[in-house]
Amino acid sequence: MKKTALVTGGTRGIGSGISKALQAAGYEVAANYNKDKATADKFHEETGISVFSWDVSNFDDCQRGIEEVCNHFGKSVDILVNNAGITKDSMLHKMPVEDWIKVINTNLNSAFFMSRLVIPTMRDQKFGRIINISSVNGVKGQVGQTNYSAAKAGIIGFTKALALECANKGITVNAVAPGYIATDMTNAIREDIREKITQGIPVGRFGNIEEIAQAVVFLASDGASFITGTTLNVNGGQYL
Ligand code: NDP
Repeated sequence: MKKTALVTGGTRGIGSGISKALQAAGYEVAANYNKDKATADKFHEETGISVFSWDVSNFDDCQRGIEEVCNHFGKSVDILVNNAGITKDSMLHKMPVEDWIKVINTNLNSAFFMSRLVIPTMRDQKFGRIINISSVNGVKGQVGQTNYSAAKAGIIGFTKALALECANKGITVNAVAPGYIATDMTNAIREDIREKITQGIPVGRFGNIEEIAQAVVFLASDGASFITGTTLNVNGGQYL
């Protein structure tokens, strides 16, 4: 029987690449999304990967979503990729409270909600993989991103602690910290700022979705069974 994989925010951007790469690696994949149904439906048509809508920042929604996905698989989730994320950038002295809360809920609390719901079964079956998508800006901080950097740094601490809790249960928990990757999220950055960012990347370019997806496939694989609690930086050589 194929192992099952659930990717949050798995229908566009980096998540779509992760979903497709896991499918190509032989997993049965489900992709979550939030509101962009048109893109999710197109993704499903193109890939055959089943798509499920729920808001990962809401625990009750996550519970309903996981139930739907498990019913669809006819079994529990073996691989969870906590990828869904948003930015709401501004300098702290101008940051609306709701933008802080929204980013923490979507980028950090979601990882707890989703993990909380799959971990009991992973512990019972003595196998599981949780891969959390952090960010270079969670590792080193970024102007205008106190909310995002706090959430993404939180993901790294969460990963380390959960890895220790599960290490003797056949479950690995790791993070991937992408550098700048060409997606809708970074296309929203002003052109002149994007050029300046590129100058700071030793490889001399933004990364592509596939380069993150392959790191996730590796961490999900049996070959990575002795790697847990780590953060894999996939960032074109940026010094951290
Ligand atoms: P995109 O904006 O391209 O896609 C985000 C995805 O997350 C979408 O599928 C979106 O769903 C989903 N999503 C957002 N909010 C929710 C929610 N509340 N519930 C469920 N799904 C949600 O982002 P990227 O592909 O660029 O980023 C993916 C991850 O990688 C994020 O965690 C991001 O922080 C991280 N990252 C990205 C970098 C980059 O350079 N792009 C660099 C470092 C880290 P919908 O389609 O419905 O809107």
